Amino acid sequence: MTGMSERYTAVLNRIHDAATRAGRQPNDITLVAVTKTWPAETVLAAYEAGMRHFGENRVEELAEKRPYLQNQRGITWHAIGTLQSRKTSLAADHADVFHALDRLKIAHRLSRDLAANGRVADGRWLAVFLEVNVSGEASKSGFPCVHWDTNATQAAALRTAAQQVTQLPGLTLAGLMTMAPWDADPVTIRTVFHRTRQLAGWLQAELALTQPLQLSMGMTDDFEIAIEEGATHVRVGRAIFGERHQV
Ligand SMILES: *Cc1c(COP(=O)(O)O)cnc(C)c1O
Repeated sequence: MTGMSERYTAVLNRIHDAATRAGRQPNDITLVAVTKTWPAETVLAAYEAGMRHFGENRVEELAEKRPYLQNQRGITWHAIGTLQSRKTSLAADHADVFHALDRLKIAHRLSRDLAANGRVADGRWLAVFLEVNVSGEASKSGFPCVHWDTNATQAAALRTAAQQVTQLPGLTLAGLMTMAPWDADPVTIRTVFHRTRQLAGWLQAELALTQPLQLSMGMTDDFEIAIEEGATHVRVGRAIFGERHQV
């Protein structure tokens, strides 16, 4: 794919600059290259260009591509889309990180599947981000958290889910994931990311976690704002690979 390497370098430079502006270390930010709709050969070329974290929103697609890169060392596969309950075993078998846990039922099923496939026993636990809906957009999935700081019920539901994830065998709590509202102005987007970071801080204190929660937020159109607001994982597709193939 022509130009991928250059676009990748440009994204790395933008990550570096956004981190520097925010007084952060660029190395503290993980770039998840979102390869959805692109064939396994493109992922292989991305690996050769230096990428090591790959994200797919459909877990079937992740399960299909992963075997093509089984001889390439050091890859982490991220399932970034919400899961239907009948597909949890695919994530349990093939994902290293899951960014879109939006219901406790999914956590329980994943834990069960990770016990069944041996990952609980061999220590290859699944790192999980809880998806939070901080924008209030009805089309967004995730735990409803628009009013987490004034609505005790919303806050308690998230706390309970996070607590469960820390207790379920096979799952480790990585942090929170959010999506900015579509077509929103930069100020609104920044507010959503800012409030997500505050929510993570609150949750960390509530659960008395010793490690800070990580933040998966920011895509092609808004990853620099996300980094300025504390993102540790940005999920970027089009800025690296170009406009997606139609599926
Ligand atoms: C597709 C997708 C991305 C990447 O989107 P781009 O706009 O191509 O950067 C990030 N996160 C999720 C959940 C996605 O489905």
